[in-house]
Amino acid sequence: MRFPHPALKREAGAVAESELGAAREIAQALSATMRSFPGCVGIAANQIGELTRVIVVDISVNPKATTKSGLLQLVNPVIVASEGSEVAREGCLSIPDYTANVRRATSIAVQALSPGGEPLRIETDGFEARCLIHEIDHLDGLLFLDRVDSLTSDVFRRKKRAD
Ligand SMILES: [Zn+2]
Repeated sequence: MRFPHPALKREAGAVAESELGAAREIAQALSATMRSFPGCVGIAANQIGELTRVIVVDISVNPKATTKSGLLQLVNPVIVASEGSEVAREGCLSIPDYTANVRRATSIAVQALSPGGEPLRIETDGFEARCLIHEIDHLDGLLFLDRVDSLTSDVFRRKKRAD
């Protein structure tokens, strides 16, 4: 799929308490999908065609990450505090042909529910913060390409793999 799926451009709806069972199943499906792509560190429900506010992030494999919370499965995540600003390269499972330099906050606090409905607060920074912001953007119908300063100088076509 080379053209962004319409669900990627739409805002996902909040999960009501009565919908937590469905949200748990989506979190499971997201985790399985993330695991099936080596190097994939996060995924949002929009990317599997579900317009509901669930994301999964696990940046454990990244050697340069400063903070690692392990597997995060978040329902209705909201960024409640953010600080700093840094430009770094990002990619996305849903936009396989491109990477881009994107400016993001360097440290954030996120409130969410666990798939079991427990309130969570995550304070993190660096690469993990970047991934959480990227995935929460997906829930608002925003792609990393929407966040670049310049489409001409900050977006890069991935080199084709030579097989
Ligand atoms: Zn993405």
